[in-house]
Amino acid sequence: MTETLGYIHSVLTGGTLDGPGVRYVIFMQMCPFRCLYCHNPDTWFKNPLGARTVESVYQDILKYNDFFNFTGGGVTLSGGEPLVQPKFALDLFKKLKDVNIHTCLDTCGYVELSDDVKGVLEYCDLVMLDIKHLDSDMHLKLTGKDNKRVLEFLDYLYSINKKTRVRQVLVPTFTTDEDYINELILFLDNYSGIIEKIELLPYHKMGVEKWEKLGIKYKLSVPGPDKSVVEKIKNAFINSGYDII
Ligand code: SF4
Repeated sequence: MTETLGYIHSVLTGGTLDGPGVRYVIFMQMCPFRCLYCHNPDTWFKNPLGARTVESVYQDILKYNDFFNFTGGGVTLSGGEPLVQPKFALDLFKKLKDVNIHTCLDTCGYVELSDDVKGVLEYCDLVMLDIKHLDSDMHLKLTGKDNKRVLEFLDYLYSINKKTRVRQVLVPTFTTDEDYINELILFLDNYSGIIEKIELLPYHKMGVEKWEKLGIKYKLSVPGPDKSVVEKIKNAFINSGYDII
């Protein structure tokens, strides 16, 4: 039997930003979106040189088990979009749950709800879901795709009672005005039973250099949000009863 290969962009062994505790973060190749602010455009494309078997990744992860136990950490599949390769994600998460390692999926949610994807979610302890924009046209402008599948994905997470952390990138002119934030809070209230935390990510231009290196034109020409705006948005969520990180 041939083992499933995963096309991996890179691995971070001491991650502290992608889920609880210290984490082994696997950045998978390929993504269905082309977000205007993407800071990992080098993950968009398939590179056969990054092919790894589930077993080889699993054996490497086991070396860090003490760190996971000590810090409440585990493994995060990120990207790119990890659900572009659901079979690899499923096989890896299954093995990790067999040895009780915490699993986290960082996803844009733009996927077909196939049996493999549903399987990944079954073996996933925490989903970190990016909401790019609630308005489908704005979503299209920001990512190149509408948001129908993402909202269906969130509905599915709710139907299976999956613990979810919602991530919102704060991009001036797209996602920082008061009306949008109020609309987002009202929308998320429908899912509050599964929402563990809200993560607000102020837009920054740290990825621009990568775009230039890849010869892709960086088209987003807004500055990052003011600190006062970010604080105001944070408070709006806190006042509505959400935990913020
Ligand atoms: S979903 Fe993530 S990896 Fe994909 S384009 Fe958007 S920011 Fe980049």
